[in-house]
Amino acid sequence: MPEPKLAAKQWDLAFEEDLVKVWASEPDLYAFDPDRGPTYVIDTPPPYPSGDWHPGAVVGYSQIDMIARSQRMLGKAVLFPMGLDQNGINIERTVEKKYAKPLHEWNREEFIARCREEIRGIGEGILSIARRMGMTMDLARTYYTDSDEYRAFSQAIFIDLFHQGLFYRGERPSFYCPACETPLAEADIVYEGRPARLAYIRFPLPEGGAVTIATTRPELLVACRTVIVHPDDERWRAAVGKTATVPLFGQSVPVRAHPEAKLDFGSGAAMICSYGDMVDVRLFRELQLEPVKAIDERGRMTDAAGPYAGLKAEAARERVLADLQSAGLLEKVESIQHQTPLCERSRTPVEFLSSEAWYLKQLEFREAVRRSAEAMEFHPPRHRQLLLDWIDSLTIDWPVSRRRYYHTEIPLWYCKGCGLAMVPKPGKYYRPWKDPAPFDECPNCASTAFVGEDRVFDTWMDSSNSNLWVTRYGRDDGFFESTFPAALRPQGREIVRTWLYYTTLKSWLLRRDKPFRHVFIHGLGLDASGRAMHRTTGNYVPAEPLIAKYGADAIRFFAATETGPGEDFRISEAKIGGAQKFITKLWNVARFVSSFPALPAGKLKPTDEWILAELNRLIAECRGAYDAYDLTVPGTRCREFLWNLFAPHYMEMVKGRAYEGDDGAVYTLHAVLQDLLRLLAPIIPFCTDKIWREVYGGSVHGELLPAERSGIRGDLARFTPEIETFNSDVWGRKRSAGTSLGAPIAGVAVPESLHAFEADLRRMHRLA
Ligand SMILES: [Zn+2]
Ligand SMILES: [Zn+2]
Repeated sequence: MPEPKLAAKQWDLAFEEDLVKVWASEPDLYAFDPDRGPTYVIDTPPPYPSGDWHPGAVVGYSQIDMIARSQRMLGKAVLFPMGLDQNGINIERTVEKKYAKPLHEWNREEFIARCREEIRGIGEGILSIARRMGMTMDLARTYYTDSDEYRAFSQAIFIDLFHQGLFYRGERPSFYCPACETPLAEADIVYEGRPARLAYIRFPLPEGGAVTIATTRPELLVACRTVIVHPDDERWRAAVGKTATVPLFGQSVPVRAHPEAKLDFGSGAAMICSYGDMVDVRLFRELQLEPVKAIDERGRMTDAAGPYAGLKAEAARERVLADLQSAGLLEKVESIQHQTPLCERSRTPVEFLSSEAWYLKQLEFREAVRRSAEAMEFHPPRHRQLLLDWIDSLTIDWPVSRRRYYHTEIPLWYCKGCGLAMVPKPGKYYRPWKDPAPFDECPNCASTAFVGEDRVFDTWMDSSNSNLWVTRYGRDDGFFESTFPAALRPQGREIVRTWLYYTTLKSWLLRRDKPFRHVFIHGLGLDASGRAMHRTTGNYVPAEPLIAKYGADAIRFFAATETGPGEDFRISEAKIGGAQKFITKLWNVARFVSSFPALPAGKLKPTDEWILAELNRLIAECRGAYDAYDLTVPGTRCREFLWNLFAPHYMEMVKGRAYEGDDGAVYTLHAVLQDLLRLLAPIIPFCTDKIWREVYGGSVHGELLPAERSGIRGDLARFTPEIETFNSDVWGRKRSAGTSLGAPIAGVAVPESLHAFEADLRRMHRLA
């Protein structure tokens, strides 16, 4: 047996670590080169650094890297940027916790300095995992959303939209998180079924009797302004038009018939108070009721709540229930599951508070944004609906102002004379809470005194500009015009209603266009039993030990083959281990092939032509799949081809010829190996490159995906089932006769239909 060119007997994870260094020393290998072909810009999700990198995210970004790599190998000039989204509440909370000092007790300047310090190390951790996983984003030029440059860019876009009259200031009830002490947009809310108690409370009627309302928020009795019952509700018909007395607080409120009341919930009667939910908000507006502020920005009862003032809402609820009980006005309390709105970040219940905020108009553009959503191609197609449903569900404009520190400042000053809100010229990074006002006088009242806005943007205001940043909007017009809309937005399913929606809205407002041509949506990484993985729930598996144990290629092959397109997936060590076995198999096959010299051509026998016909089919399928952002097909089809066809059948049939130096067999062995390596290079870049470099020289990542070979009779593939059946049959006979598979066997004839392959088959099985 000749010496294999692939020296190592088996695949070794140390090869991966070596290749990370080799690739770092060859920056041109993955660099964006506009001369390479049509430009293809990916709007890579800038991850939010918080602790280490979630293994589900590592899988998601691996898939995005496979798309980038395959597009490069399809001949595109791929711009694959990397950013880190560093603004926001997560890093603020880390600092608050570390120093046990809440945000509003800090000196602003000092707090910002601590955040900067803290976030640097965390972001670096993500980039090092990306490198170790063989991801080919342009890490050397990573952009940061908290850089002065990026913040100036965000502010310039705000200034542009401000001049178009798209922002307004309003005092209106909106979602508010007492834990984060900030108003929230609808997109920041998650609903979760939580146990709650539904209290049945009697509201006495002056002329006797009572209306019994059902509520989960009895502490809001103080803010009740009316009671509603359904117009068809026989139970309460007599009460409609009368006035009821609110227990404990004594105010008189009208009982009305209103279709918003639910016949089948609780008693059928509901109190409308400021504010328990969106229905309350709507009815206060519709019925022009006077709101009472019962809960403050820290989640405590206000002075309006009398004896309950200063209590947290939950404590007040207990006291109110006890007092109702003593007053004989509590009929009963039921335990129910209640869809509770929670703050997505702090996972605590949100309130509806009326507070002054800056809003970006969005409701009036719903139809246009819908059309943008329709104009983008989704992968998988069904996930377009996630975006459409979200657009349809919007009920309020986007509140974009936050009372936080480590965010992009809203670039606004107010005239002290007349209150006019003024924006500066775009281009600089402005910090109105500390910078001098960049105006001489107010154009309205000629006052020369200004006060800077001290609020900041919702972080989605920054990240929804990422597509404009990477296409160099406003910074390089030629480049922008040739790359907008960007080719691809890849992202997780959980941020369709935020990142994807806001980007689509912004691009329409600024450019009257869709932001992307294609949208690729991947699922969430769950634990092995299908539950979401959080550090707080104890089922969290960090990414780094997984990589150390199985290697990047095994995780990547798992990411391609074991996660359905767009579906949530379970991170299963057993399956990652299975992926590792495939890499071992590929190595063994490559090592065998590498013991023969690579030939430029050879005289093909029918067996050679047959496997090349199968290879042509494989190439066509894989190219088509890569083109359609399907990673499962290339991964699984290459595995099947190698494991079930090429190794057990073809290699065994031609071994004898190959050892004799038959150029048809030797040429074909290498042709198949080379093409398999090219087809698999986007998915398992380490193993394929290690083999390529040792056997053929250069890097497989400088290659294009293979094209189908011409001159191969495609109809030969029709023999595949018969060849497989014949071989299995002979192996079966040898096994049942207790002889080794390499032993000769008598009395077996090659069927007439496989005549063309007879010589190779006879030799393979040693048919006597
Ligand atoms: Zn919160
Ligand atoms: Zn003025």
